[in-house]
Amino acid sequence: MSNVPELFGSLVFNETTMKERLPKQTYKALQKTMKEGAPLDINVANIVANTMKDWAIEHGCTHYTHWFQPMTGVTAEKHDSFITPTDDGNVIMEFSGKELIKGEPDASSFPSGGLRATFEARGYTAWDPTSYAFIKDGSLCIPTVFCSYTGEVLDKKTPLLRSMERISVEAVRLLRLFGDTETTRVNTTVGPEQEYFLIEKDIFDKRKDLTYTGRTLYGARAPKGQELDDHYFGKIKARVSEYMKDLDEELWKLGIYAKTKHNEVAPAQHELAPIFTTTNLATDHNQIMMEMMKRVANRHGMECLLHEKPFAGVNGSGKHNNWSISTNTGRNLLEPGKNPYNNHEFLLFLVAVIKGVDEYQDLLRVSVASAGNDHRLGANEAPPAIMSMFLGDDLTAILDSLVEGKEYDGAQSTKMDMGVEAIPEFKKDATDRNRTSPFAFTGNKFEFRMLGSSVNIACPNIMLNTIIAEQLAEFADALEGVENFDEAVVELIKKTYTEHKRIVFNGNNYSDEWVAEAERRGLYNLRTLPEALPHYIDEKNIELFSKHKVYTPIEMHSRYEILLEEYVKTLNIEALTMLDMAKKDIIPAVSKYVKSLTDTALAKKALSAEITAEVEVELINKLSKLQLCFSKRIDKIDALLIKVSDISDMQELANFYGGEVFPAMQEARAVADEMEMSMDAEFWPYPSYGQMLYSVK
Ligand code: ADP
Ligand code: MG
Repeated sequence: MSNVPELFGSLVFNETTMKERLPKQTYKALQKTMKEGAPLDINVANIVANTMKDWAIEHGCTHYTHWFQPMTGVTAEKHDSFITPTDDGNVIMEFSGKELIKGEPDASSFPSGGLRATFEARGYTAWDPTSYAFIKDGSLCIPTVFCSYTGEVLDKKTPLLRSMERISVEAVRLLRLFGDTETTRVNTTVGPEQEYFLIEKDIFDKRKDLTYTGRTLYGARAPKGQELDDHYFGKIKARVSEYMKDLDEELWKLGIYAKTKHNEVAPAQHELAPIFTTTNLATDHNQIMMEMMKRVANRHGMECLLHEKPFAGVNGSGKHNNWSISTNTGRNLLEPGKNPYNNHEFLLFLVAVIKGVDEYQDLLRVSVASAGNDHRLGANEAPPAIMSMFLGDDLTAILDSLVEGKEYDGAQSTKMDMGVEAIPEFKKDATDRNRTSPFAFTGNKFEFRMLGSSVNIACPNIMLNTIIAEQLAEFADALEGVENFDEAVVELIKKTYTEHKRIVFNGNNYSDEWVAEAERRGLYNLRTLPEALPHYIDEKNIELFSKHKVYTPIEMHSRYEILLEEYVKTLNIEALTMLDMAKKDIIPAVSKYVKSLTDTALAKKALSAEITAEVEVELINKLSKLQLCFSKRIDKIDALLIKVSDISDMQELANFYGGEVFPAMQEARAVADEMEMSMDAEFWPYPSYGQMLYSVK
């Protein structure tokens, strides 16, 4: 292993590189833009561009690209080389400030939800100097935002930056009231824990479903799943370990704080968590991390699956969005400190989150909605589709005693006695973990656990930041100019907690009792994307985003349309893939096997009337019946897909796919899986669950 501190960030045009290479004045001017948002002079941009180019060429680059996050959920790039022809027929390598600052990709091929007619194809990408340029695959990548000719936002990055700005302004207002005169900027921080599966590449290539949809649409369970709990934190296999080392190195070079790696619950499932950083960087880094996970896997002859539910019967993959708020002076505003009962600043920020999550449960649910995530939420492996918060016994007791006007007796962390002399004593955490909660307080941050593994974390964080900015704004409005600030704060904490404590639930979120209890409390239970998404454009939500200038009402309507359309397209591709696999592979395979059984039975009979062919005959009978049933269920999917063309309303279409097509797909799969279990493996056209989940050694 090479020298990690030296390796770290070596492919990033970061602060150190800038300081080293840029003229002093240029460096200062750029810093002003990066830190204070000052406009960038074109002369400065020219020098920066030229320096970046020289640095990139030294690292083997020939091209540059504006790198952005359109609404497809993946990142986009278009590579241009640095070459510029000279009069004598040669070329020189050039990169101007103009090229650095602005790009003009054809916007018509990216989803816009009707924001832009195709004849108005022009779109702009604009450099985001708050995120560093980096080198990937021989190209200098410049993080940019993406908007249409008329200024509508077409990406996920711009609203994220806006939401961060909003929460900063409102938090600083509130901090001033508490006497903090030093903080000038507040940032939200995120550490996303990323789950994934690794399988052999040649096995992956033999599965049309994985290739086209990222998940298995057919497949009988292997005899062994995750029931022994022997994979979670288990010994990492040699090939996986090599992969993880290689991946860490690639990520470190790109300045990504890859930190923790371990096996997850399902066989072939793993996790990688970085050290947290500011939300916009964490978002870029998570996108790059997902891309590198796939690329490095290929290098190792494997395929990395980031789908939320690649395999039925074992856990799917999620992403835990650890979120907190901290000041530019280095204070974490969700840190309870030694004496949380008297830490009114902390308690006020805490109840701001409680109120925000309660009032905007629907938005947070929408922010994690996808066709893939519909397989997880509420399936006893991930939090349910119901939003609630875990505070732990101590914090709940503190808030309860505050409301009841009782002293809190504060029996907080106790010492853990292992009963073994040699083991050093250590303190128990004040709160135990609750793995079932969708939104858990974990000591000095909240862990939002409903995210699917493939989601771009920009969306949930745009929602979180804006929702909390709104609460902080309301609090600042209420507290500015009051006579007795201390008293007013305590009253506000009490009032807010009393009004919103229905969202707090410290029990088991996987239980049926909770579903009933949540209904009594009047909490939303939005089980699927088609059920959740209409709330995106509820009046109160449109008001929220308009007020904070994160989205215009038009942008929200367009995003709602895009998400619905993406869902419909995903299910349509899945249904078509099922039909293809059924007609081209599965039904013929069963016929071939039945023919071979028939041949065997006839051969036996021909040999002697004494020999029994009962096994063959029984199997022929069973498989023929199943095959007929399967064929009928496939026909049903076919018929449903024909009906689809009669529906023009996008919401209705999504309801139809979720309510009719999806259950029909499940029914067809059940029969196919039963046939697979009765077939000779030689005849089954696809690698089995056992091969997929257990072949990486
Ligand atoms: P686990 O939840 O699996 O036990 P950890 O407690 O180690 O994992 O933390 C998970 C993630 O939380 C890490 O990515 C870590 O960097 C992140 N994290 C820790 N503190 C903060 C914070 N203040 N803001 C955002 N993320 C944080
Ligand atoms: Mg976690």
